[in-house]
Amino acid sequence: MSTSNFDFDLFVIGGGSGGVRAARMAAQRGARVALAEMLGTGGLGGTCVNVGCIPKKLYSYAAHYAEAFEESHGYGWEGEAPVLNWATLKANRAKEISRLNGIYGNLLTSAGVTVFNAFARIDGPQALVLKLNGEPGEKRLTAKHILIATGGRPHVPDFEGREHVIDSNAMFDLEPFPQRLLVVGGGYIACEFASIFNGLGSTVTQLYRGEQVLRGFDDEIRHFAANEMIKAGVDLRLGADVAFITKTADGLRVKLKDGGEITTDGVLYATGRVPTVKGLGLEAVGVAQGKGGEVIVDEHYRTSVPSILAVGDVTSRIQLTPVALGEAMVVVDHLFGPVAGKAARSMSYDFVPTAVFCHPNIGTVGLTEAQAREQHGDVTIFRSEFKSLRHTLSGSTERTLMKLVVDTKSDRVVGLHMVGAEAGEIVQGFAVALKAGATKAVFDSTIGIHPTAAEEFVTMR
Ligand code: FAD
Ligand code: NDP
Repeated sequence: MSTSNFDFDLFVIGGGSGGVRAARMAAQRGARVALAEMLGTGGLGGTCVNVGCIPKKLYSYAAHYAEAFEESHGYGWEGEAPVLNWATLKANRAKEISRLNGIYGNLLTSAGVTVFNAFARIDGPQALVLKLNGEPGEKRLTAKHILIATGGRPHVPDFEGREHVIDSNAMFDLEPFPQRLLVVGGGYIACEFASIFNGLGSTVTQLYRGEQVLRGFDDEIRHFAANEMIKAGVDLRLGADVAFITKTADGLRVKLKDGGEITTDGVLYATGRVPTVKGLGLEAVGVAQGKGGEVIVDEHYRTSVPSILAVGDVTSRIQLTPVALGEAMVVVDHLFGPVAGKAARSMSYDFVPTAVFCHPNIGTVGLTEAQAREQHGDVTIFRSEFKSLRHTLSGSTERTLMKLVVDTKSDRVVGLHMVGAEAGEIVQGFAVALKAGATKAVFDSTIGIHPTAAEEFVTMR
């Protein structure tokens, strides 16, 4: 079949970070593109826009005001701290998200993408069946290439009382505001929501089954961040897990495996995410999947069926929006050619920076100290721990930790980690330096910006 015999050159399943970017870029390259979005988590934009990065960060900003009001007294501000109107925060967030949903829709249609509000199922290597929202029957279409960008969804394990718990999708519109909140898990989402609701005014208990939260991050950073979260008010309990949950007149009674008991208004399970593949028709068409259902892809994001590709969280690799965006652009360059005058993009998974928006934030890029020792043997560690200038008057006991991991032989900085205010903002810039191969000597010869916390990264000796 020649390209023109297909209904579309590219059919994208999923209107989240990866799907929207791929569809838009491919259409701008002149391809005939369609996208199906089932509107599972809200409007166009997927997890990040509706129930992920964006609303989470807005609530994180909201939570930071609480400490800002408190700290302002040291700077001479007087008067009672204002109180949170949860309904206003929810309404303003919803308004902003629906504005973003509209922008995503406009971006797609103005690029010439045909958008279906539909659940899509793959019905052959180059065929799909759409179940259009609110309409009877099904629609069959063909496409030269199919891109799976269906993302992931929260996973809650089975246990007695599971029906009483909620996942992160439900946190944004909780009603009423939980005066007491129990968070289960020790990953990104658990730490972020524990900090956010602690800041917003809940009494937060966080249970993590292991020895320390944020497995995979630099050990010193994990301990330091956990300690700062505890200082800020989160009752973090390590080596703790839920046995069962019952509903009582006073709230949810949570029995712990160690025999302890907690009564709370809400229980958030933030115990990881699984790929959204149910009903996609992958088995029938022969798309190979991993143990967790994730779609397996090669370096060009092709699945075991060459006309079908996949990007983003559904491949269960690095689950971050900028990674899904990067992968989408590589796919488009590969299928439809690069932007005129530019080389085809490629994706490297080394030095992917990331932030955990717990309070204070964690920002990190490159290798942890343990990974660096394993890969490079001889490493030199530079660290600086301090009370930031801001807190000299604020009365806050919050401390900042910055850490550089240097390969001693080459002098290259292979890891850079921070716990402290705006760590994500600071580490983004340094990520460029690490990617460019900056040595410690280059850091040392860089002039600081004074007075900032960030200058510590170029003054460590
Ligand atoms: P998604 O954005 O999940 O999009 C998939 C879309 O496909 C969904 O809209 C879904 O409805 C649709 N879909 C699924 N199946 C079908 C089907 N069969 N037919 C039609 N449509 C379908 N990342 C960051 O980088 N920074 C952050 O701060 C951050 N915070 C987060 C906070 C939370 C609470 C969560 C849950 C995630 C966060 N992430 C963050 C991760 C980020 O949201 C994801 O990595 C990113 O959204 C993945 O994009 P995606 O395109 O792969 O999938
Ligand atoms: P994570 O994989 O980060 O963490 C899951 C946590 O749940 C781990 O602490 C894990 O423990 C624990 N856990 C898993 N199963 C169970 C169980 N059965 N009982 C008790 N605890 C359990 O997943 P998240 O859901 O927090 O986030 C998913 C992904 O979304 C992240 O990996 C990240 O890529 C992305 N994200 C990014 C954000 C950002 O960029 N700021 C913010 C939010 C999400 P253990 O360590 O012992 O396995």
